[in-house]
Amino acid sequence: MSERAEAIIVGGGVIGTSIAFHLAQRGLTDVLLLERSHLASGSTGRSVGIVETTYGTRVNVALAKRGYDELSHFPSITGESADFHPRMYLETIAERRHLPYLEQAASLGRDAGLHQTLVSPEDIRNLFPELRVDDVAAGLVTQEAGFCDPHSVATGYAAAAKRLGVRIRTNAAVERVLVDRGEVTGVRAAAQEVRAPVVVNAAGPWCNELNRPLGFELPVDLWQRQIFVTTPHPEIPADRPLYIDITGRFYFRQELDGGFVLGLVEDVAARDLASPETDWEFKAKAVAAAVHRVPMLAETSIANAWSGIVTFTPDQLPVLGPVREAKGFYLANGMSGYGVMISPAVGLALAETILDGGSRTIDISGLGYERFRGGRPARDAGLWLS
Ligand SMILES: Cc1cc2nc3c(=O)[nH]c(=O)nc-3n(C[C@H](O)[C@H](O)[C@H](O)COP(=O)(O)OP(=O)(O)OC[C@H]3O[C@@H](n4cnc5c(N)ncnc54)[C@H](O)[C@@H]3O)c2cc1C
Repeated sequence: MSERAEAIIVGGGVIGTSIAFHLAQRGLTDVLLLERSHLASGSTGRSVGIVETTYGTRVNVALAKRGYDELSHFPSITGESADFHPRMYLETIAERRHLPYLEQAASLGRDAGLHQTLVSPEDIRNLFPELRVDDVAAGLVTQEAGFCDPHSVATGYAAAAKRLGVRIRTNAAVERVLVDRGEVTGVRAAAQEVRAPVVVNAAGPWCNELNRPLGFELPVDLWQRQIFVTTPHPEIPADRPLYIDITGRFYFRQELDGGFVLGLVEDVAARDLASPETDWEFKAKAVAAAVHRVPMLAETSIANAWSGIVTFTPDQLPVLGPVREAKGFYLANGMSGYGVMISPAVGLALAETILDGGSRTIDISGLGYERFRGGRPARDAGLWLS
């Protein structure tokens, strides 16, 4: 007799494992998670782990706030560690014409109970003396932020889900989703059929490999991102705020030893999804951006580097919920570069959608795949301003 489950989750990154945990926490424990490699082997294991809550749309703020609340209390919720470290979050703009964006983010944040302050270059100098501010017009500081270890988040959710009864299987690639007369009946994996009335696509950059055979495809871009890490500077404290220059498309956080993890955002199409490699030609650009913003970093060197894939939708919001093509098939795709921080919210929203027919805690009604039905919408600036 073939194996059965009430729900199958495809993908063992932060999203799949969070959905497994939240389903089990809500009482659905006959769940099978299938991961083709090892847990966190996709985008999750390559993430920088920044957790922050400053966004320009209400749904983003709601997802991110839920994420912050759960990741900053991970041990009491899951019994596992997310290796979360609280830090302030500083976002800056180069031109005053972008001030309305910061004001809007601050206003949405205040409505959601976040603690945010608009700051002048002088205020920033006091907060982060090593940061160059002569080309900064203004900034926004948010208290509800920090960073975590994304690998620990995925393995933590998986361990907690397992304790509740969820089956987690690695080295188990799903070949396709099985559908009979418009309804999901399970998946085919390792030449075996596993029966289930619910299947969740949490396959990250590979999401369309499962979607395409069902007759639709999400308009996602797969970008390859490059990360470089500096050695610590002995005179820069290790707990400076997380920083994002939203006009320069540049960000960093510090490691616990004080080294700077640098991310310079350029949209380069991904080639090798399974083993993205460091582009060393990018190093000079990342170092130049870092030394421009924190001149003392000229006295450090690059100690580490890696690369990974992000899955962006045109409006830079995730795609969550059911599909018309197959009853029982749910999407949790297109995390648009911030899947770790919103993974708790996505897990909860999908669990509520599957079990209650709709997400009660966070309104995700605008995040269905049908928003892309009329063709590919114009690209939204998302977090970045130009
Ligand atoms: C360089 C970089 C920096 C980032 N920084 C941040 C950050 O600071 N903060 C933040 O919140 N986010 C960040 N992100 C984004 C974040 O990492 C992703 O949004 C998140 O990890 C997506 O998780 P996921 O579970 O959807 O995908 P993945 O982690 O890719 O997981 C998908 C899993 O599905 C498995 N899979 C695929 N197909 C199949 C199949 N057919 N059968 C079985 N298994 C399958 C894959 O092996 C993979 O393990 C960053 C990403 C990168 C690359």
